[in-house]
Order: sequence, then C-alpha cells, then structure tokens
Amino acid sequence: MSKVNILLGSNTEPRNKYIQQAFNRIVETEGISLLSKTPVIETNPHGVKDQPDFLNQIIFIETIMTPIELLKFLKSVEIDTGRSFENKWGQREIDLDILTYDNIRYETDILTIPHHQIQTRPFVKELLEMMG
Ligand code: ADP
Ligand code: MG
Repeated sequence: MSKVNILLGSNTEPRNKYIQQAFNRIVETEGISLLSKTPVIETNPHGVKDQPDFLNQIIFIETIMTPIELLKFLKSVEIDTGRSFENKWGQREIDLDILTYDNIRYETDILTIPHHQIQTRPFVKELLEMMG
C-alpha cells in the first residue's frame, strides 16, 4: 500500500459540486481509502491570471494502485466529473493532480512526482502542512 496526496481543483461553477463529486468517486473506489483531508479553500489562479478563482482541497489516501494506474484512474474521474478540456491553461471543471506518492521521485513525459505545484504555489505547501 502506498500513501498519496492528491490536489483537487475547480474554477468553473458549480465548483463545490465538482469537488464533492470527484471526492466521492475517489474515496468510494475499491483499492483506495481516505486517510485525511484538508478543508476546501479558495485560491487565486496561477499562470493565466485572467480566469476565475479556484476551490482547492488536498486529500491523503492509501492505495494499491501504482503511480501510472492512479494517473489513469484520476483522468477517468476528471472526464466522468465533466471536465471538457476545451481550455488547457484556463478554466476547468475539475483538475486532479498527484502531489506526492510515498517518497518516490518519478519523471516521465506523462507523470512527474512530486508535482511542481508544491514549489510554485505556496497554498499547496500550506495545505500539506495542515494535514501533518
Ligand atoms: P495541469 O498541468 O494544469 O494540471 P492537466 O490537468 O491538463 O493540466 O494535465 C496535463 C498533464 O499533466 C496530464 O495529462 C498528465 O499526464 C500530466 N501530469 C504530469 N505529472 C502529473 C501529476 N503529478 N499529476 C497529474 N497529472 C500529471
Ligand atoms: Mg492536472
């Protein structure tokens, strides 16, 4: 079993519904159990600033999935939750990113762990610290 931090984000209304729907899908899936979670907080957009604020939450889970299995699973949850992929750098209904996976470092074209957002977005570190 591996321990993983996942960042949930949405900046398209209904933001709360998208976050809740993805959260439920993840924690109800076989092979995943929820260890802890942060509150849902509001954050300013990064990169492309001309877009709505995000709601973000980090969940800490235990899973039997490998990093690649987890990435594929999260992409399917994004699609089922209604992510349209119309605007790559801008607004999104739901974004699910793997922040950390045990202590591993992993770098391929499709997956980088730890996620660079831990360094580039201060709220990510703050939320991770809240979780202990
Ligand atoms: P963003 O980079 O803003 O999250 P996307 O959600 O569209 O944009 O992700 C683009 C690609 O990032 C995904 O298709 C995925 O293959 C790749 N990726 C690389 N590292 C990670 C990670 N740690 N978690 C999730 N996706 C990742
Ligand atoms: Mg993403």
